[in-house]
Amino acid sequence: MLKIGILALQGAVREHSRQIEELGCEVIPVKSVEDLKEIKGLVLPGGESTTIRKLLDRYDLLEPIRAMADKGIPMFGTCAGLILLAKNIVGYDSPHLGLMDVVVERNSFGRQVDSFEVDLSVQGIGEDISAVFIRAPHIVAAGENVEILAKHEERIVLARDGQFLGCSFHPELTEDSRIMKYFIEMVQESTMVFGKMDH
Ligand code: GLN
Repeated sequence: MLKIGILALQGAVREHSRQIEELGCEVIPVKSVEDLKEIKGLVLPGGESTTIRKLLDRYDLLEPIRAMADKGIPMFGTCAGLILLAKNIVGYDSPHLGLMDVVVERNSFGRQVDSFEVDLSVQGIGEDISAVFIRAPHIVAAGENVEILAKHEERIVLARDGQFLGCSFHPELTEDSRIMKYFIEMVQESTMVFGKMDH
């Protein structure tokens, strides 16, 4: 069974697990370097990016996750997870993981009370995909190889940069698992490309 890791230091872990299991994969909660060993894809959940970053440092996970990215392991960042993946964060001198070729701005749709739900049309995935935004970031700019998959009010809210998928909202908080399915397919494709390579 395909093993998908979820960074489980803080944030929306349980909801992602449910969707991943319903799609027929095994979930490995990632809390230490050991947990990274067998996974073929990694989900970085929402939460508070600055807190998750502190925990990544405390548990010595930042470099091992970067090393996995170097090996081609697909990664999916939702909300705070997108901020962790981004190469640039507006107002910050340095990124966290710095892997995905996008510039993100934090809390760009208002404060916590301003959480909202909308239906999005997502390129290559489908129509009427409900998306829950909670103090969400958005993608201000994207590198030329980044595919823009969805926008809300002219702002980029879902994009793919090769092995990296990042979204502003929380796809795990709805019954609609089409975006997670898309990510699982990215993982399946990457295991085929790498064949028997140990990654
Ligand atoms: N506002 C949070 C941050 O900047 C992200 C919020 C979320 O993940 N729901 O890290």
